[in-house]
Amino acid sequence: MFEILHTSKKSGARVGRIHTPHGIIDTPNFVAVGTNGTLKSLDNATVSEVGLQLMFCNTYHMMLQPGTDVVKKAGGLHKFINRNLPIITDSGGFQVFSLAYGGVADELKSRGTKKHDGSVLKITEDGVLFRSYRDGSKVLLTPETSVQAQKDLGADIIIPFDELPPYHICPKKLKKSLERTHRWEKRSLEEHLRNPNGQKMYAVVHGGVDQGFRKESIDFLADLPFDGYAVGGSLGKTKSEMFELLSYTFPRLPKDKPNHLLGIGDLSSLEACIPFGVDTFDSSYPTRAARHGVVFTKKGNIKLTKGSLATTFQPIENDCSCPTCSQYSLAYLHHLFKAKELTGMTLASIHNLHFMVELMAEYRQKILTDQI
Ligand SMILES: [Zn+2]
Repeated sequence: MFEILHTSKKSGARVGRIHTPHGIIDTPNFVAVGTNGTLKSLDNATVSEVGLQLMFCNTYHMMLQPGTDVVKKAGGLHKFINRNLPIITDSGGFQVFSLAYGGVADELKSRGTKKHDGSVLKITEDGVLFRSYRDGSKVLLTPETSVQAQKDLGADIIIPFDELPPYHICPKKLKKSLERTHRWEKRSLEEHLRNPNGQKMYAVVHGGVDQGFRKESIDFLADLPFDGYAVGGSLGKTKSEMFELLSYTFPRLPKDKPNHLLGIGDLSSLEACIPFGVDTFDSSYPTRAARHGVVFTKKGNIKLTKGSLATTFQPIENDCSCPTCSQYSLAYLHHLFKAKELTGMTLASIHNLHFMVELMAEYRQKILTDQI
């Protein structure tokens, strides 16, 4: 499933290839988040043309709307959303525990001012009972139901059900949470292995910001037949705390399997974390920034509503080959954002996604030549 083409002589960075039933993922790579089976404002044919090799969809959202049974009836997620390239789904754990503990899931924030207080009804050893924000019905998420939902969706890479403890938690409670997460991940793996269905399952390494717990988590999970490793849970309050934790965690993962850093993908984090040997990163940041009128360039970000762009009849970047830059000027994009036209968001998202695809190709090239 995974081949390593080169490991840098300078750092832990590596260039590899993940093979899936829907094609290859070159690593390191960026994974865009299509929560509801779409990157906001972009259709999936466009996303594939831009060259995004792996897309992240959220099981929690697909469970509540349209329902994973509907997706299964449609022939699976790939068919339903018209994507022939690899897809990864999560377990839904992140979202339900964000509801329970007040986390900062982007997906939840992006739903506006809807209140979620009290929607988690019960957390037991079996799983989590919560109330659907859509129709008020009760939903039970357990390791088994989460994996079954991910079987219905049929993504290439799936994630076991885990607990996301809050950042402020005492070591005793964190230890208890870690142990339960391990039991849940083992149950998820067993459920998955009853019908692998061509899917691969990544374990999720937990342990908060405690290095000892992180090591304990790796040791426990490495003994089980997972296909790869994702690093999740609380990673710290500040970037420096996060980088210190990740510089400890990633080099200790088994080297022969692919890994993934959950929910982190801003430009400075990519630069800091690739040398630790991270293979894939997911983040909604590039598309969210685009929707807010912020586009990436090699010289830094440009805010499209900036007044001086009103008569800048040049593309975002002269040497960018994306459809937006080859067809439209900054002045036009500026106008679209000022006029609040949705096309502006679409064109900015295409450019930022293309920027990420090119950036990751550059990173791979630099690792191959031992510059990173
Ligand atoms: Zn462009």
